Amino acid sequence: MADQGIIYLLWQDLVGVTRTRGVPLRDLAHRAEAGLGWAMAGQALTPFEDIVDNPWGPMDEARQIPDMGTRFVIAGDDGNPDVHAVICDSRAGIDVDGECCVRSFCASALADLKAATDLDLVIAFEHEFTLWGDEAEPETPFSFSAARQRHGFLSDLERALTSAGIPLETIEPEFGLSQYEISTGPVPALQGADQAIISREVVREVARRHGLRASFTPKFAPDAVGNGGHLHLSFADASGTNVTPDPDGPAHLAPVAAQFCAGILAHLDALVALTAPAPVSYHRLGPHHWSCGFKALGVQNREAALRIVPGVSADAARSAKSFNIEYRPIDAAASPYLALGALIRAGLEGIRGDLTPPAPITRDPADMSDEDRAAHGVTELPTTLGAALDALEADAVARGWFPDTMLSTYLNLKRWEVDAAETDPGGAFQRYARTY
Ligand code: GLU
Ligand code: MG
Repeated sequence: MADQGIIYLLWQDLVGVTRTRGVPLRDLAHRAEAGLGWAMAGQALTPFEDIVDNPWGPMDEARQIPDMGTRFVIAGDDGNPDVHAVICDSRAGIDVDGECCVRSFCASALADLKAATDLDLVIAFEHEFTLWGDEAEPETPFSFSAARQRHGFLSDLERALTSAGIPLETIEPEFGLSQYEISTGPVPALQGADQAIISREVVREVARRHGLRASFTPKFAPDAVGNGGHLHLSFADASGTNVTPDPDGPAHLAPVAAQFCAGILAHLDALVALTAPAPVSYHRLGPHHWSCGFKALGVQNREAALRIVPGVSADAARSAKSFNIEYRPIDAAASPYLALGALIRAGLEGIRGDLTPPAPITRDPADMSDEDRAAHGVTELPTTLGAALDALEADAVARGWFPDTMLSTYLNLKRWEVDAAETDPGGAFQRYARTY
């Protein structure tokens, strides 16, 4: 019967972990209206088995209210039942916004973007991850052998992603040993953030079925290739046309897209505290890794924080359709909702302030002279999470994007993570690999 079994109510928290409580499927209609309670203090959970100081203690409950449009199934196979789940907003009451709800934070930034520009944001994620847990000797990076070594997993992953409604675009071995990647197609932004968390859970689930673990941690080990979670952004008008490009604009960007990029670059040091939010994220960021270590704009430049990706087609209309802006200093320790919401807030500052982006760079920023870097507005990104958090706290405009409790709880959590990683730097890689 269709209403037998469990459905998991999912929500993302400030540290980008997807938490859950399950209910019988037969109770879903009731839960759709009233949701499920969860202690407010749960918003202060670290990525590990700890909780930081918070204003709630034993008091108060968040209500996890499902957004029924997000319901999905990871199809089962021999020995594994279907997994039903739905994504929730963390509200303070049935109709009361929750101050720490990352999904509502993102939705409200999108609504403000729409009000200011009459445009919708379209996004797509790339997800790099490391597979481990069996004795298989890793094959050569990017090789057909590396694909075939995990072909059973990759094939099952394609099926499971399709069952969950995820528009898979590519699936491949990456540069690192046992590193793989999936990228998904462009969709409206909130749906794209939903799909990001669904995609990661599907990867973890299919890996589990194969006796493996999959981790999206930004740096699996000190000498491993980093796992990025690059985010592609474009703007669509009411007819769905991609209005991001303008062949005559700076870096081929239309005015609104150029202003949006300028806003992101103006607040980038603060933004990385949200998009590269783990101590180990800063072992990934840095020059010469294509993860980017510099604040810079570039066309097809993989060392720039913002890489403009022109469309590729002999047909101009088709080419314009796939034109997008890639934000590179982002990894999967970030909540996609929190990261995206903050990027939109920064972009909106650029639009409202009519900011102009710096000229695009045409080479590796690490190899530019100091004068050249200054002329292109290129500066080094924060090199530790602590420095990024300092930049966030020092940026009064960025602080204003967040409800007070959300920001103070986030800072408590992240300062705790900095301290924990300093206490046990070696163990940090394993801990983040386990959680993410
Ligand atoms: N692994 C790189 C990163 O950490 C990205 C490589 C690529 O461009 O796909 O961001
Ligand atoms: Mg890649």
